[in-house]
Amino acid sequence: MSFAAEPASAPAAASSNLATLTIARLDADLVAMAVVTGEHDRDFVTIGGSRIHEFQHEPRWWRVTVDRRVEAVDVPQLVVQTPHQNRIEVWSPGRMLPVLRSLVGPDADPRFSTRGLVVSLPEGVDAGESIYLRVHSHSAVPMPVTIESLGNVHRADLVHVAWRTVLLAGLTLLAILALGFWIGIGERSYAYLMLTLLAQAGFFAASGGEFQMLPGIAENVGGDPRLPRLFALIAALSSLVFLVHYLDLRMRQATLTRVLTACGLVFGLLTLATLVSATRWIAVTANLVLMLATAVVLVAAVLGCLQRHRPAYFLLLSWLPMMALLLVRTGEVLGIWAGPSWLIHAFPATFVLSGLVIMIGLSDTLQQLRRDRDHASRLATFDGLTGAMSRPAIEARLLACVEESHHSGLPLSVVFFDIDKFKRINDDYGHGVGDGCLKIIVLRTRNRLRTYDLFGRWGGDEVLVLLPDTRLEEAIGVAENLRSAVNCRPLSINGHVLDASLSLGVAELAPGESASELLERADAALYASKSAGRDRVSGGSPVLPKRVASA
Ligand code: GH3
Ligand code: MG
Repeated sequence: MSFAAEPASAPAAASSNLATLTIARLDADLVAMAVVTGEHDRDFVTIGGSRIHEFQHEPRWWRVTVDRRVEAVDVPQLVVQTPHQNRIEVWSPGRMLPVLRSLVGPDADPRFSTRGLVVSLPEGVDAGESIYLRVHSHSAVPMPVTIESLGNVHRADLVHVAWRTVLLAGLTLLAILALGFWIGIGERSYAYLMLTLLAQAGFFAASGGEFQMLPGIAENVGGDPRLPRLFALIAALSSLVFLVHYLDLRMRQATLTRVLTACGLVFGLLTLATLVSATRWIAVTANLVLMLATAVVLVAAVLGCLQRHRPAYFLLLSWLPMMALLLVRTGEVLGIWAGPSWLIHAFPATFVLSGLVIMIGLSDTLQQLRRDRDHASRLATFDGLTGAMSRPAIEARLLACVEESHHSGLPLSVVFFDIDKFKRINDDYGHGVGDGCLKIIVLRTRNRLRTYDLFGRWGGDEVLVLLPDTRLEEAIGVAENLRSAVNCRPLSINGHVLDASLSLGVAELAPGESASELLERADAALYASKSAGRDRVSGGSPVLPKRVASA
């Protein structure tokens, strides 16, 4: 993004150019009659190439001379491309009055696209004859000059309009998508991205002339050179905010963030200054600050890549084509070289591409956050050793099941079990074997339960099983099943074969009973199993009389 203007295209291909042109410049704004009658021809300085490249603000004279006769039958047109906010006054041979042209305002010619300013040369031009142009420039972007047949102008216009539609619609669509994500997910980065994309679209449309086609715009602010500048400043500011957020620079690169914050402040001030002044110094300052900010972001992105920060990869990927074409464009504006003709469309296309890659990158970041969150919640929900539910998770399920059972009237039973003499297993075989024993018992428990039964490790060698929609008698059956699952065959762990058994307590939820009261009864039943000699199931302990009375 530049604060001056978009890149210019190179001269049209030789086939579309009806003559080879020699361009010359007069370093003064002299009286028109004296200039167009050739009085000052000696003072014109020939410029290499076939483009008008006007750096200065004041109007100046340019001369376009053809090397061979341009026939009237071709319906020749003088085309000055990428004029942006510039205005030209064209004095063609045989005409007593100039034709005024600009992309907007009363001098705009609605028969042609915004590709360039077009002036008809109905009589043709003789070899060696000159066309004089008085150029009032607001942008330092080179303007390729061609003489084309009307048919060629129309053909090139169609291509131009198609490309511009794709580019502007691409940016706008991405902005709408970002808006949708912002509203849907509530992630602020999408809002900054949306603002950046809209401002970029605004910049291209304002400097390319499309924006001024909107009703009411042309009459009010159409020719104002501050319009693209304003959009570019807003785009730079919002993209800085976005990038600091996206690359997580506040946490990762405090010093670079301070530099970018300072750049952002300057952009903010320049935005305000643009509202009251059209001086070129604003554009110059903004371009310098933009170069600094770009370098800082690139350094931050490279550092991010070295730290394997995924957003940094996405940023570099999205910026690579843009940076390459920006270099070409800078060389063009500085007059070092003439870029290829497709550059005029390729440059904005890199912004669309960049927006798309960043959008994918942003989704990737959110996906990663979701994965981390899921992982954290999995860790919180499941016990790391056995894979059974963790105590907080099974406690929460117990509360929910109790509430649900009271609400629906369906029964709920619980089984509480504890491994017998587990300390001895640890002591005899070591903690590793003890762990293996826990894992196998949990696995066998899982295999004996229905899919909608729940169980979790209550702590140490204790496990709580929730049996929704299950009466006490059935639950006792399930508990017996669990008991036999463990003692029916010895456990084989790390080459050791050992016998293990469970003591189990069963209870069914009574009307009006709380979760902790239910657990207390199941625990009491478990204790009864232990007292009675272990490796057995106890259940059906009556509800406490107090509770019966209150129920
Ligand atoms: P009882 O039949 O009365 O239940 O005897 P016990 O030896 O099983 O006694 P208790 O249930 O009180 O002992 C639980 C033991 O479980 C204590 C602790 O060393 C062991 N333990 C707790 N958590 C783990 C664990 O994650 N891995 C291993 N290997 N042992 C554990
Ligand atoms: Mg035990």
